[in-house]
Amino acid sequence: MREESGPAGVIVDSAMTFGDAVAGTAAPEEVLQSLRLLELEYLGLDGRDHRGQMVVQEALEAEVRDLFRLMETLRFPLGRAVPVVRYGWSDDASMADNNSSAFNYRFVEGTARLSNHAFGRAVDINPFLNPVVYRDGRISPPGASWQPEAPGTFSEGHPVVRAFLERGWRWGGHFSAYADLHHFDKI
Ligand SMILES: [Zn+2]
Repeated sequence: MREESGPAGVIVDSAMTFGDAVAGTAAPEEVLQSLRLLELEYLGLDGRDHRGQMVVQEALEAEVRDLFRLMETLRFPLGRAVPVVRYGWSDDASMADNNSSAFNYRFVEGTARLSNHAFGRAVDINPFLNPVVYRDGRISPPGASWQPEAPGTFSEGHPVVRAFLERGWRWGGHFSAYADLHHFDKI
């Protein structure tokens, strides 16, 4: 049995306007003005071509596009890429759904400090496959586990991780307090 898809064979995971993609955020106007809504194509975990969207800082637009093209070339699959508004701005819900995203006007988990995500300067990729691993062994999101050999999963020296590092991004897998394996940011 064969599934039908659109004329181009691409499955559309997200097709928002910029206004939809930032609706209800607490971000101030000056932050909103520095953001761009990108349309991105990627290989899905189902092996099919998908199109999604990501809201990023305008200065990082070209690099994020490059990195997505690289992931596609390497056949590195993504769960989905949908702006976090779809999850009511809940990072937990977005992570649990293995959603890749960038902008979310929020604090760093457990602090009163704005995250780099608040400015669209951080990108999370496949957070359920690349969870946060705390020193005490706890893993977030709940129910996730890290299987470094599985498709869509990062580990030290992975070509996608290297590509981010070469462009001057940090990888959360290198953070000292905990390993945030899905997180990349650039200040
Ligand atoms: Zn992150």
